[in-house]
Amino acid sequence: MLILMNADATPVMIKRVCEEVVDLGLTPHPVKGLQRTVINVTGNKYQVNADRILTLDGVHDIVTITKPYKLVSRESHPENSHIDIGAGVIIGGPEFVVMAGPCSVESREQCFIIAEHVAKKGARIFRGGAFKPRTSPYSFQGLREEGLKILAEVREKFGLLIVTEAVDTETLDMVCEYADIIQIGARNMQNYSLLKKAGRTNKPVLIKRGMSASLDEFLMAAEYVMVEGNPRVILCERGGRTFSNHNRNVLDLSSVIYVKKFSHLPIIADPSHGSGQKYKVVPLSRASLAAGADGLLIEVHHEPEKALSDGPQAITLMDYDNLMSDVKKIATAIGRTCR
Ligand code: PEP
Ligand code: MN
Repeated sequence: MLILMNADATPVMIKRVCEEVVDLGLTPHPVKGLQRTVINVTGNKYQVNADRILTLDGVHDIVTITKPYKLVSRESHPENSHIDIGAGVIIGGPEFVVMAGPCSVESREQCFIIAEHVAKKGARIFRGGAFKPRTSPYSFQGLREEGLKILAEVREKFGLLIVTEAVDTETLDMVCEYADIIQIGARNMQNYSLLKKAGRTNKPVLIKRGMSASLDEFLMAAEYVMVEGNPRVILCERGGRTFSNHNRNVLDLSSVIYVKKFSHLPIIADPSHGSGQKYKVVPLSRASLAAGADGLLIEVHHEPEKALSDGPQAITLMDYDNLMSDVKKIATAIGRTCR
């Protein structure tokens, strides 16, 4: 942390700031420049709350250098984390892991048709919401426990692991009984009670980036889960709102590169929500892998026009085949694997 003093700050003011720094258990190193004095602060292991210092006379500004997250940061864990989901599936390792399925679990028949297809063509994990966070309370809200039971049947019959969303603390335990990965949706990325409770489960947690969340906020959401004792966190970039009016959301692939630099956690991409339009999903999937993502979360439907949610962004079974064929070629080219 650097404390920039005003150009006219007096020696008394500088002394007072240094005392406050010592009070915080840190060491101040004042450096007198031509224009102003800058106090370099050392000794902090994580970001300190500097609000007190900002209120002192003569302080112009504070520049923080240390990241606010700790357990999530690459400094605390220089190697990439490999998240073991079970059944031989590891996220964050050499394998590019594809999670595919419908937006919502609509029926056993729907899930079985899609699951059979995606399993044959290399998906490792089946996605599908049993609890749906919808913008309108009049829209389909999910089949709830009946949907979770269908997902458990999918795992049994097709050998796919299951990722599904928990929308609140009340139903989290129920979702844990059926899921292999707990999804925390974009709208819940800053639901701290849900994040904390997910941190106390023994399930891997997939956190989707909020649609207007900064990367520090995104990584702090992961910190909430990890600080409760759950190290199995997977991040998911799913696009955010911008001035663009040609997309539902804009998939921010530079976030993948940033997360890889500053964190050891795996990050996957969701080009379905990240664009909102099916014709963009295959090219954005290729780009996600090329940018360094560890996997994909993709919405696939055998009859997108009849989907109860997110039909316009669902790719068909045939599109899915093309996606997998492209992704396998790119994975080989960049030294990764894909089933
Ligand atoms: C979903 O994955 O279906 C979903 C609701 O995603 P998000 O939270 O990113 O909107
Ligand atoms: Mn969806």
